Amino acid sequence: MLSLDTEIQYLKGIGPRRSQLFAKLGIKIVEDFLTFFPAQYQDRTKITSIRDIYKKLQGCIFVKVGKSCERQLSQGLSVLDIEIFDNTSMMTYARFFRKNNLYSNIDVFATIRKAFEVGKFAYIYGDVKLERSGRFISVNDYEIVQNKVDKPLLFNKIIPVYSATEGLNQKFIRETVKTIVESSCMLYPDISNLIPRFHNIPALQSSIAIQKIHYPNTLEDAENARRSFALQEFFVLECALSLSRNNLTKNPKIQKYEIRRTLLPTFKNNLKFEFTRDQKKAINDIFADMQNIYPMNRMLMGDVGSGKTVVALSAVLLAVENGYQTMIVAPTEILAEQHYLTMSNMLEDLDVKIVLATSSTLKRKSEREKILAGFAKGDIKIAVGTHALIEDRVKFKNLSLIIVDEQHRFGVMQKFAALDKAKSPDILMMTATPIPRALAMTVYGEMDMTTITQLPPGRTPVKTYSSNEQVAYTDTIKELKNGNQAYVVYPLIDESDKLALKSAVDESEKLSQTWFKDFKVGLLHGKMQPSEKNKIMRNFKNKEFNVLIATTVIEVGIDVPDATIMIIQHAERFGLSALHQLRGRIGRSSKQSYVYLIGSFNNETAQKRLSIMTSTSNGFKIAEEDLKMRGPGELMGTAQHGFPKFKAGDLIKDADIIEFTKNHASEIVGNDPNLSKNENIVLKNLISKYFSHKTNLINVG
Ligand code: ADP
Ligand code: MG
Repeated sequence: MLSLDTEIQYLKGIGPRRSQLFAKLGIKIVEDFLTFFPAQYQDRTKITSIRDIYKKLQGCIFVKVGKSCERQLSQGLSVLDIEIFDNTSMMTYARFFRKNNLYSNIDVFATIRKAFEVGKFAYIYGDVKLERSGRFISVNDYEIVQNKVDKPLLFNKIIPVYSATEGLNQKFIRETVKTIVESSCMLYPDISNLIPRFHNIPALQSSIAIQKIHYPNTLEDAENARRSFALQEFFVLECALSLSRNNLTKNPKIQKYEIRRTLLPTFKNNLKFEFTRDQKKAINDIFADMQNIYPMNRMLMGDVGSGKTVVALSAVLLAVENGYQTMIVAPTEILAEQHYLTMSNMLEDLDVKIVLATSSTLKRKSEREKILAGFAKGDIKIAVGTHALIEDRVKFKNLSLIIVDEQHRFGVMQKFAALDKAKSPDILMMTATPIPRALAMTVYGEMDMTTITQLPPGRTPVKTYSSNEQVAYTDTIKELKNGNQAYVVYPLIDESDKLALKSAVDESEKLSQTWFKDFKVGLLHGKMQPSEKNKIMRNFKNKEFNVLIATTVIEVGIDVPDATIMIIQHAERFGLSALHQLRGRIGRSSKQSYVYLIGSFNNETAQKRLSIMTSTSNGFKIAEEDLKMRGPGELMGTAQHGFPKFKAGDLIKDADIIEFTKNHASEIVGNDPNLSKNENIVLKNLISKYFSHKTNLINVG
């Protein structure tokens, strides 16, 4: 008996050798065949005449078979031409190419010659080739019928085209898939009964959807069936995420907050600006979470410069107003330091103790003991730092809120939730990597989400040009003469890329003697120690030099307001999101800022990136384009973060489905938190099958 988990090497006609080839396509068990959906379709619904195929250059014809003639083109390649006719006839040949086997006399055309018997009828799918020696149809696929009226199997319909691999041809894959779909698609678990009707997506049982995706009657049918299958697929994912969210927040928290107005009003009055609408909304969301009986678990997403810091600080002050301690974790020392400086400035008039805790500040024994004691006694209210804060020796008296900046990792939540720094901390994550809503709902699915889409008023958008070095350096010098600063960025293709390093080192020397000879030039490269990088960034910020040449991507979140110009060398080697992040390092004041992209944009992808970069500065839009161009797997390395691959679902086309299934999933999980009701048993099994190993939070055992 076949089951979904039967290994394919045991299937008739496959065996161990072919099963290894199928494994390359990701197919190991029967189930994988069912969801090995076509990479594309060939529309063979229209059969044209020989005369008409010359107009379209590609298509299907139905012809009578004539004589054949074989020739050797080169030592390794032979060609077989077969005369074909229909009643529009112009002398035309069906043409086949085959590689010769140099070591044997096997007749490479035996099968074809046998099939194409004179007088028989053939359906042919192929491309027109006009040559001086005649008219040819280069055959991609064919089917012979005995009589004119016989119905073909592979023509007059839409045909699936699968990804293939060396040693497995399309025909064999197609036949194998067909056999297995016919015998086993009924085994595929179905949860269509749990999902309400959504828009015009047909409510197909999974087995029907599978059949229709492989063998649709029309292309529209195929798309409907795909959407229908995606509905189930995303629903399972969203239920898993919803369970995980429930697990995180299962236990009521200990801390309680009231708006006491002892710190927040002063803080707000000291700011030189009003909160934007999005900032207000974010603060409201966060305060509501904090006042909820369950711990907060929220992601705050906002493009660089959108003003997340004051939002975070508002949350911090609510906690401090209520006597609690808070922790703000940044990924690097320089960012932690920057947060510390900004925040201490903003808190100047308030009597709140804040310290910076990084491996540098914790290095000296006396200093370290003072800081650690302050945490333990509870008189230090705000700890800003790096992962040094997570070490065991760091203990708090009553930590209630943890803020994590610039982390965008699937599952990072677990790490922080598991910390025993606090019993049931409220957690706020922040990221400046905007991603499209649909993707966010899956990547950060276990979190609630707030986005800041507005930038504070009065920003001058960065102008982006593609340009040559001459122009770029000339303009840079103008900016430098006005007292502004500049970045010159080289890509470091990988860590061991000595060549790029060398070029940046050489280049910085050359530039400091030529273009920038009247200015001070600094260099930042990937081989430097973190402390050294820190020092250079700090010196640049303090204007000890005017130009910073960098081989590494400059820290996200770094704030040098007088840097108004950036030259990106070999810009064609950076992805869209990386370019956008880099661009975020400038334009951080009201002054006009400029980016010059230098590189050879000589292929279509590079051209497209260039035109997106020069036409928009909206991070969400750029992320969406990036997603379209690269696929979600590559976006921010989501694949490494256990981000699931979808069989039929498409993160761009199915954004509406994701949103719908997310809402419906919370409802189902809300009504049946352990999915123990009878009707949810299939769903529960699907979740434990696909997700239990990915996130240990889902335990529906
Ligand atoms: P990010 O979201 O990248 O962390 P920041 O919090 O660093 O952004 O804010 C960027 C800059 O904008 C800071 O100088 C901050 O003081 C300023 N800012 C934040 N909110 C506003 C606002 N509502 N109006 C004007 N300026 C603001
Ligand atoms: Mg920031």
